[in-house]
Amino acid sequence: MKVMKFGGTSVGKPERMHDVATLITRDAEEKIVVLSALSGTTNSLVEIGNAMANGDREAAKQVIDKLDAHYQTFISNLLVTEAAQQKCRAIIAEHFEFLNIILKISFNDALNKDILAQGELMSTKMFSCYLEEKGIDHMLLPALDFMSIDAYDEPQVGAIKAKLSNILAQNSDKKLFITQGYICRNAKGEVDNLKRGGSDYSASLIAAAIQASVCEIWTDIDGMHNNDPRIVKKTVAIEQLSFDEAAELAYFGAKILHPASIWPAQHYNVPVKLLNTMEPDAKGTLIVENAGSVGVKAVAAKDGITAIKIKSSRMLLAYGFLRKVFEVFEKYRTSIDMITTSEVAVSLTIDNNTYLDDIIRELEPFGTVELDKDQAIVSIVGNEIGKTEHILSKLFDSIADIPVRMVSYGGSPHNVTLLVPGSFKTQTLQVLNKGIFGLD
Ligand code: ASP
Ligand code: MG
Repeated sequence: MKVMKFGGTSVGKPERMHDVATLITRDAEEKIVVLSALSGTTNSLVEIGNAMANGDREAAKQVIDKLDAHYQTFISNLLVTEAAQQKCRAIIAEHFEFLNIILKISFNDALNKDILAQGELMSTKMFSCYLEEKGIDHMLLPALDFMSIDAYDEPQVGAIKAKLSNILAQNSDKKLFITQGYICRNAKGEVDNLKRGGSDYSASLIAAAIQASVCEIWTDIDGMHNNDPRIVKKTVAIEQLSFDEAAELAYFGAKILHPASIWPAQHYNVPVKLLNTMEPDAKGTLIVENAGSVGVKAVAAKDGITAIKIKSSRMLLAYGFLRKVFEVFEKYRTSIDMITTSEVAVSLTIDNNTYLDDIIRELEPFGTVELDKDQAIVSIVGNEIGKTEHILSKLFDSIADIPVRMVSYGGSPHNVTLLVPGSFKTQTLQVLNKGIFGLD
């Protein structure tokens, strides 16, 4: 059995939904198809929630009406027969009735989660209407019946597996299941979600739970590329990545895959394939535990990074200093991404400035604290980087003109990470594209 996940743009237009139906019926393997909400819908639902939270029911109503109109047109173009359209309109009307009812009741966080869940509920039901009209046998699998998170908001594959295998066993005559990405139930049994972009995570969790043959993530790019196509002219799709390499790249702006979706697939050893709905026969990127080749596969960058340097002569020959520093970050639940040390100073980076003032205040007693905002992390990712000939000299030759602030190498065998001022991000990615990959 395999899992196929289609994101918002892949279902965002009626004709794209038609393509999805073709893609999922190309082979006979049993499958669970995971869908996102139509592109733009979750953003609108967030807007509705925000307007409600601000007590602006008028604004919320406007967004609801606009969304409703969009779905009406969508249905007209998705389905052919009057009967199918009518049936689908009645199903979607229930969701808009719900949204209109909440306008009248008092708003809270649990209700907000209910609002956010409507997108995936509607996309899967509409898709199911289309499959029904085409006579494609399938079953709609409510994610809320099996996808769950624990009291710490963490999904547990074991719990998901227990519920899901039960449902699948009861429907062993079915070969095609359609379910919602993103949505789940929390420990209190309320409707919740796996955070924005979480449909990939759903797909990976389901694939882990059923020990799928493969977890296919279908988007509109032909896999992960060696560099950011928005910044450099020439990029190439990467054929194979290890889970570790993919995790590095997913953390850095490679928006194609939600970073959290790596661990379930890796832990349960399910290969992940990144495929392109527009070019379904292109190879895409295969992510497995042991990706064959070694060497640099890609460079990626993430901006909005803050560097903090703590300099203290007390650090010299002292022990326990780093622990005290780290404790401050732990206290403010802020994760540290990069770290370099010398005998008298430590520099580290964070990508979340929510508690920056508190953190600085608590670090000051330890020594001189210096802050550099608007930095960018540039990561050079590849298996066993150190084993690639001349890689470090090539790397440093290419960045000769860049004022590098930090370098980290050796934390794992598969990346070298640089910190550069944010204004040098573009240039760094460009010189590395040429210096390392020989591309423009
Ligand atoms: N619909 C959700 C979002 O836009 C989940 C997803 O698409 O992955 O964030
Ligand atoms: Mg996505």
